Amino acid sequence: MPGTILSEPGVGTVCARCSSADADLDVRTERLCRVCFIKYVSTKILKRLEAKGVRGAYDDASKKLLLPLSLGVSSLALLHVLDRHLQVQRQKSGRVSYSIHVLFIDQSAFSFQRESESALERVRLRFPMHSFSVVTLDEVLDYESPPLEGILMANQALDKNCTLSRPDKLKALLSALPSPTSRLDIVNILRGRLIAVFAEIHGCSFIAFGDSTTRLAERTLAETAKGRGGSLPWLTSDSMTSEGLKINYPMRDLLKRELILYVTITEPSLEPLLVDDDVLDNVPVSSKDTTIDGLMSQYFASVEQNYPSIVANVVRTSGKLVAPTLRSDSIPCGMCRLPVELASKAWAGDQGSLPTSSLEQSKEASGNGPLCYGCTRSVDTA
Ligand SMILES: [Zn+2]
Ligand SMILES: [Zn+2]
Repeated sequence: MPGTILSEPGVGTVCARCSSADADLDVRTERLCRVCFIKYVSTKILKRLEAKGVRGAYDDASKKLLLPLSLGVSSLALLHVLDRHLQVQRQKSGRVSYSIHVLFIDQSAFSFQRESESALERVRLRFPMHSFSVVTLDEVLDYESPPLEGILMANQALDKNCTLSRPDKLKALLSALPSPTSRLDIVNILRGRLIAVFAEIHGCSFIAFGDSTTRLAERTLAETAKGRGGSLPWLTSDSMTSEGLKINYPMRDLLKRELILYVTITEPSLEPLLVDDDVLDNVPVSSKDTTIDGLMSQYFASVEQNYPSIVANVVRTSGKLVAPTLRSDSIPCGMCRLPVELASKAWAGDQGSLPTSSLEQSKEASGNGPLCYGCTRSVDTA
């Protein structure tokens, strides 16, 4: 099995890379020692960043990278690798080639998310070199105007004279949505928008997401099933936000199992900082609460064990989709800001159009432009 500890340290066999006698890890086709495994993970990540011009010469120390942290294994492993990378740079030359701003989005009021305050404090103490920010999900409404009010009124969750506080407005919207899948979908869309806006406001030039190969494979199939196939290049590949910031997925060549192993064997271990890798997903209490994302996550967790190449193939295939340059005349979706015509025409055509009335209702509901096919499906309560 890939990424497994085979024995106690010191009683392993010869490492395939450095020939030391204490290889106790089975990683894909190689038997590795812990030092070489740590190097294997960090090299894969740093190579990806280098290819995108994030690391490299010390020419622009003001280059700021935003790292959205979920307190799961992937984003913590990413923070750990980049922190070590910057520490080595500083020791060698007294300078660093970029800085890191860590962002945690508190969405505990809107979706299932475990208690995270004490874990966040531990992360801050462990990584004191970097800036940290915590924002609540409803803050997205200060910067963005997703068509909440229109949707709420269309669903009679809000009458014209009623004014709700910012968190209550978002809660009302989410509870007006037709299914747990729609709620999780819209929470993820708003989270993505908040990250993009935050990065722009704080002068970050890059956003580095911690998604592993496994997570990207889950997303590829889940987004396709939700009618967002046309938006895949923006949701799973290196691309640009609608604000023109670079989005990177530097962990796309690493399996989740390998990252679980990584956080366990770093010294000191990162385990005390973990909250739960699935903090962003609603944990279903019954089958009617199951989401498409949750199903995909369960599926790939089992496939990854014995058939890691299937997981990698899904990501490699979707990685070939290139995000088209946004044309100045393309119409951004009122909810997700991705171009409407790409997501809507292709998918509505293949999967059968929604009834005109509900589509029109969503367009009217948005009040600030039409919605793409994926967003229309998520907010459609007809
Ligand atoms: Zn070795
Ligand atoms: Zn949309």
